[in-house]
Amino acid sequence: MSGYGDLSGKCALITGGGRGIGRAIALEFAAAGANVAINYVGPADEAAETAVECAKFGVKACIVEADVSAAEQVAAMFEQTLAELGRVDILVNNAGITRDGLLLRLADEDYDRVLAVNLRGAFLCMRQAAKLMLKQRSGRIISLSSVVALRGNAGQVNYAASKAGLIGMTKSLARELAGRGVTVNALAPGFIQTAMTDVLPEAAKAKMLATIPAGRMGRPEDVAAAAHFLASDAAAYITGQVLAVDGGMAM
Ligand code: NAD
Repeated sequence: MSGYGDLSGKCALITGGGRGIGRAIALEFAAAGANVAINYVGPADEAAETAVECAKFGVKACIVEADVSAAEQVAAMFEQTLAELGRVDILVNNAGITRDGLLLRLADEDYDRVLAVNLRGAFLCMRQAAKLMLKQRSGRIISLSSVVALRGNAGQVNYAASKAGLIGMTKSLARELAGRGVTVNALAPGFIQTAMTDVLPEAAKAKMLATIPAGRMGRPEDVAAAAHFLASDAAAYITGQVLAVDGGMAM
């Protein structure tokens, strides 16, 4: 655990939390004492394994299935999370996909699916979470944007649009909820070692690496530490912000 602060008694829902950055966030929160709900879509193995690891910290950990792009599944996910954990103090919009291609070759369905999961998914989860957090008069919403939202990336117009959209959504919702004790922020990771980047060709990885002042790819734990900070009491006066966790890529 990075040590920003105690999250004991808090309940966190992490979308797509079974692997990669979401898994690291779930473990970081659990290590800080938070109960965690780990959302997944498709096979449950990774989420179940993550929940077992989280529970070793002595917290409650459950898994909840939902495709975040489907409103009724998101509503059911929040109901199940409330039934298992009793409340939602922290929402992490982490679920995300890429379907890369240069604009002229980008299929309509690849544009639509990326926007549906990355942006509509976050919208649907935020709407459910905001309802609960407004009543509680406290909460934390943290969304995974990307360095690509800030700088653009050839071959990712759909992904960049979704991640830039998340920033506008974050700032607007931050304004709506700021007076009610709820903060809304985004993280903009750079080039992080996960399944999402493992699939890139070696040449593309080397080219990307050359643009990172820190001289290395990020680890999921680097992003989790920043999420922990934004979720903690220490960040109570920080809202509507985009925190880059990118080894200096987007300066
Ligand atoms: P990953 O592919 O390892 O994890 C993504 C998770 O989202 C998976 O568990 C997947 O099952 C889940 N998911 C996908 N579609 C879903 C849906 N419809 N409903 C519910 N869950 C769904 O990727 P990662 O690298 O850990 O990425 C996590 C987040 O961080 C993503 O939003 C990604 O865009 C963002 N990000 C990653 C990087 C990077 O370099 N890896 C950089 C910037 C931002």
